[in-house]
Amino acid sequence: MDKSQVNKKELSLGKKLLFLLIPPHCAACNEAGYERLCPVCREELRETFAPRRVLCPGGNGFADEVIALFPYEGEALKSLLYQWKWRDLPVLGEIFLPYLARRRLASLLPRYIDRVTFVPRRRSDRRMYAMDQAECLARLFAELRGLFFEPLLKRQGRPRPQKKLSAAKRRTNVAGTFVPLRAMEGETVLLIDDIVTTGSSVSECARVLKRAGDQRVVVLCLAH
Ligand SMILES: [Zn+2]
Repeated sequence: MDKSQVNKKELSLGKKLLFLLIPPHCAACNEAGYERLCPVCREELRETFAPRRVLCPGGNGFADEVIALFPYEGEALKSLLYQWKWRDLPVLGEIFLPYLARRRLASLLPRYIDRVTFVPRRRSDRRMYAMDQAECLARLFAELRGLFFEPLLKRQGRPRPQKKLSAAKRRTNVAGTFVPLRAMEGETVLLIDDIVTTGSSVSECARVLKRAGDQRVVVLCLAH
């Protein structure tokens, strides 16, 4: 039997009742009878996991490096990232945790990281969605590796959503939207985002962090 499959014999009476009423589902494809992921989705995620340095279209801008864990492909990954926006499920964090712990990823990261931070979401998004995925990932990652987590940026103003804009327009759209939360000097910052598309947001964050005190900014994202 697959390890993720629920062993009904080992469940307490309360859990058995709950299991009858609301059977657990695969977090990606919704197949009943699995906690976290079903074997198919887990295998798909395992196969697409390929931590590597990436180059965004038009370059990485002010980011010194951009490292991605997965290419943005496959139904399981897309479904998980989409759902994570809307559902406050710690289980989704748990799903990605083993990938953040992999040695293949560690070999790509800077030896010393002063701070782990994240690309903050727009305020309207914060109200609309249950989770800030990037913040959640940054917290998980810092805890996992025993690093300092600290919010270093905040948003100001109201840029338009990036989704429908071209790469060039995205860059001008995000200009001036991030401000540093404190003074810094020569720190190595790991900047975390969930999905990096053109890299305009992470580049702008890196620019602002560097202007605040010559930081080295390495970007880590789940999907590119
Ligand atoms: Zn599944």
